Amino acid sequence: MTDLKRCAPLPRVAAGILALVVAMAPACRTTNSATAGIDLAGMDKSIAPGEDFNAYVNGGWVKATPIPADKSSYGPDAILEDETRKRLLALIEESAKAGSAASEDSRKIGDYYSTFMDEAAIESKGIAPLKPELDMIAAIADRHALARVLGGQLCADVDPLNNTNFETENLFGVWVVQGLTDPSHNMPYLLQGGLAMPDRDYYLSTTPHMVELRKQYQAHIAAMFKLAGFADPSARAGRVFALETKIAKVHATRVESEDVNGAVEWKRGELAAKAPGLDWAALLEAAGLNDAPVLTIWHPKAVPGLSALAASEPLDAWKDWLAFHAIEGAAAFLPKAFVDERFNFFGKSLSGVQELRPRWQRGTDDTSAALGEAVGKSYAQRYFPETSKAKAQAMVADLVQAFAKRIDALTWMSPATKAKAKDKLGTLKVGVGYPDRWRDYSGLSVVKGDALGNEQRAEVFEYHHQLEKLRQPVDAGEWWMTPQTVNAVNLPLQNALNFPAAIIQPPYFDPQADAAHNYGSMGAIIGHEISHSFDDQGSQFDAQGRLANWWTKEDFEHFKAAGEALAKQFDGYRPFPDLALNGHQTLSENIADVAGLLVAYDAYRLSLHGKPDVVKDGFSGDQRFFISFAQSWRSKMRDEELRRRIATDGHAPAQYRAETVRNLDPWYDAFMVHPPEKLYLAPPDRVHVW
Ligand SMILES: [Zn+2]
Repeated sequence: MTDLKRCAPLPRVAAGILALVVAMAPACRTTNSATAGIDLAGMDKSIAPGEDFNAYVNGGWVKATPIPADKSSYGPDAILEDETRKRLLALIEESAKAGSAASEDSRKIGDYYSTFMDEAAIESKGIAPLKPELDMIAAIADRHALARVLGGQLCADVDPLNNTNFETENLFGVWVVQGLTDPSHNMPYLLQGGLAMPDRDYYLSTTPHMVELRKQYQAHIAAMFKLAGFADPSARAGRVFALETKIAKVHATRVESEDVNGAVEWKRGELAAKAPGLDWAALLEAAGLNDAPVLTIWHPKAVPGLSALAASEPLDAWKDWLAFHAIEGAAAFLPKAFVDERFNFFGKSLSGVQELRPRWQRGTDDTSAALGEAVGKSYAQRYFPETSKAKAQAMVADLVQAFAKRIDALTWMSPATKAKAKDKLGTLKVGVGYPDRWRDYSGLSVVKGDALGNEQRAEVFEYHHQLEKLRQPVDAGEWWMTPQTVNAVNLPLQNALNFPAAIIQPPYFDPQADAAHNYGSMGAIIGHEISHSFDDQGSQFDAQGRLANWWTKEDFEHFKAAGEALAKQFDGYRPFPDLALNGHQTLSENIADVAGLLVAYDAYRLSLHGKPDVVKDGFSGDQRFFISFAQSWRSKMRDEELRRRIATDGHAPAQYRAETVRNLDPWYDAFMVHPPEKLYLAPPDRVHVW
């Protein structure tokens, strides 16, 4: 969940440790945890832990908790997001009320929000705020002009390595960060785009669910054209859908997108020959990439495919496609009819959400995204005391130390690889709470009464901020999540981690709870992020963040085999009769989960200094550790949303993440799990990886 959503208003799955509730969904509900630690009432002790650990730990909660009508899923992450959003609203409203006494940032925050909330003004303007963009699209007379408009729409809305956001609804997405093999220079990366639905599968899969969705999607495109006053909406919808289907056919799959070795570097002048079709000079100039000598092409098959379509498909189809995407992208800032129609498809049909969430929530999220670090600075000042920062830093230090001990103890790894792994671990940079330096928003103009314009200017401001990095030295301390984000992230190119302030709170981290609880929950989250540095992708980056193999051949073979075994384990989970998980698509996250839990367990045991933990609430310390872990993954999800996540998310659904406990030997001892219980794995089948 990041401000990368500036340019991606459609719901997509974001990464970090949590695949969070998408922008369409969240709503309002609070928890009141009167007691710290595990939730006994949320358990279902009638179920044997070895049969279904998730149901044993979370069954009571699952039965008692409905998914709120305006959400596609529900769990601790959504609850914490709701609580955080209320705090943000209070901060934003204070800014709005401060008037002339406010700081410049505060005034912008207040104006952005109050302008979005002025529904009457937005209603009275109708489609007029979007008219200049629609006129510009209508005036496209040739392929040169098409390339200019396509290029002018690119923004920094993808991130294949930190937030694993692999596509955009623009034709391409831009990411600016250091080169894969050159940590000393920033360069632009180009990724695939062009689809409004979440993934190529939605256009190409033959399951009845997807076939039905495609019908509804075409009706939705026509409805949006009609609302915007276009003639022949059905014919236009047909052209847009046909073009997007061709785009889907040239797109890389989710698994292909995850391959860090799939990217290539092309000189600017090579694009015309390697990806013929587009007027590249016009596109790159309009995109502000005129002086980039080399581009990293993340999708070396899709980029030529898209370029070819820009030449072969009728100009009118492209103009309809551009107009539809412009309307869709602006819909949240247009009159209610647009908001509702967009929700009907992307909220209801695509994610199963029953009700649109209240406007104040959407306004708070939009403001928090547009002015991310300005809002984040106030949030951190008020809600993240230095004591929390110090405690979280100490916990990270424990986990890093425990990981180093695990490396030392590995019997299969050679001393040479161990030394490199420890070098990487020893230079890991850990950001806790908020960045060392705050973003300067003085260049962003927020105009009262211009809701759509404010959104568009915020997008451009963010894009220019990213492009400016091409002229700056690499900043190894750059943050990729705002402090108010309930998530955490590993940054392979920076050999760094970010733990935003908003995730360092109960129920994940509770200063009132005991060590078993905090290590099972926050400890496992920290362990997960550290372990990403050593997952199937992270392990290919060295201590300097360079894509370089530091493994001996034998060690890497062993490591890969362990990953394959884990992929096979997750391939076996089948949430629907016609749909199983993809063990390779979710492999990095599953490695991080199991390695993170192992290291959190080690750190928990170390924290006891050899003494046995007390029995509390009838559970031993080890039992509470595993219960706390599985309760941090409690979740309910609508079927439509679950299908969407399986198609597009690098994370396995939460219940399977909870059940990765079956790979840890101490879990078997703690709960006396034996064959033929369903989750039982014979010792050789338990995958540790690290
Ligand atoms: Zn992760």
